[in-house]
Amino acid sequence: MSAQYPRFACATLITTPDYVIGGLVLGFSVKRSRWPHETVALVTPDIGRADRERLARVWDRVIEVGQIGNPSRAAEWGLASFRTVYTKLRLWELTDYTKLVFIDADAVVLGGLDDLLERPRFAAAPCVTAPDQFNSGVIVLEPSLETFADMMSRRGELPSYDGSDQGFLNSYFRDWYAGPPEHRLPLAYNVPRLLAYYRPAWTRLNGQIKVLHYFGPRKPWAGRSSLRGRVLQWLIARITSLTMDRPTPADIWWELHGELEDFLRTDEQVGAPASSPAREF
Ligand code: UDP
Ligand code: MN
Repeated sequence: MSAQYPRFACATLITTPDYVIGGLVLGFSVKRSRWPHETVALVTPDIGRADRERLARVWDRVIEVGQIGNPSRAAEWGLASFRTVYTKLRLWELTDYTKLVFIDADAVVLGGLDDLLERPRFAAAPCVTAPDQFNSGVIVLEPSLETFADMMSRRGELPSYDGSDQGFLNSYFRDWYAGPPEHRLPLAYNVPRLLAYYRPAWTRLNGQIKVLHYFGPRKPWAGRSSLRGRVLQWLIARITSLTMDRPTPADIWWELHGELEDFLRTDEQVGAPASSPAREF
């Protein structure tokens, strides 16, 4: 069914159980930012019932989607986490919505996102490690079954420079860098955590960050379950606190995580959902 009237949502994707905690903190941060529209978490069959129920505490809809395989040789480069990321293309199937703001589960929302809904069919912010490419951790898109089918048919043929959905989407929307400016979002909508290592860049954006993105191999929640992981995390926190202003990106994520835990212990609702659609799992 296609949307009959403008209907907007903020969406994320969770394809593996280790990212559920990221999806929970993100969902909590979206509600806390007073996002006035619906929120949707896409999950693959690998996400169990208990995790879906927890996600449904902070996301209005939890929708199961089939995994889409990664046709590139990402696994050969040792990038196991990219195995499932082409599932992100399922966003274009969500034709209940006229427009979506998609955010990776390894990100948090710190400011209002409503301005993004003014953006055209496709918009994204630059990737700081390849600034003439966009980062696919935050994208504004208009679902379309035609676009979805076209992407699926070109999935094996279009190259992915990094072996992930990001490289594929950059090949697909290849005019992003040279084309009209409204497709290019300000960096504040997708600030990589690593910017905190460069004080002038961090200071310039601080206070204006809309989305903080923990992209790269070590997620803030990584290693929580092992002693070795916790020691490593403690050491990293000590070292970064010597070189970075506080709160560091990790501090920000853990602060939100603490608020989320408090919230999950209570029965209250974060913000008011735009409507109360049925749970879909
Ligand atoms: N993802 C997931 N499980 C995985 C890998 C990825 O759920 O094992 C989803 C999740 O939404 C994640 C997104 O796909 O944020 C993109 O992957 P990731 O953020 O790890 O890539 P990066 O931003 O580090 O390049
Ligand atoms: Mn990410």
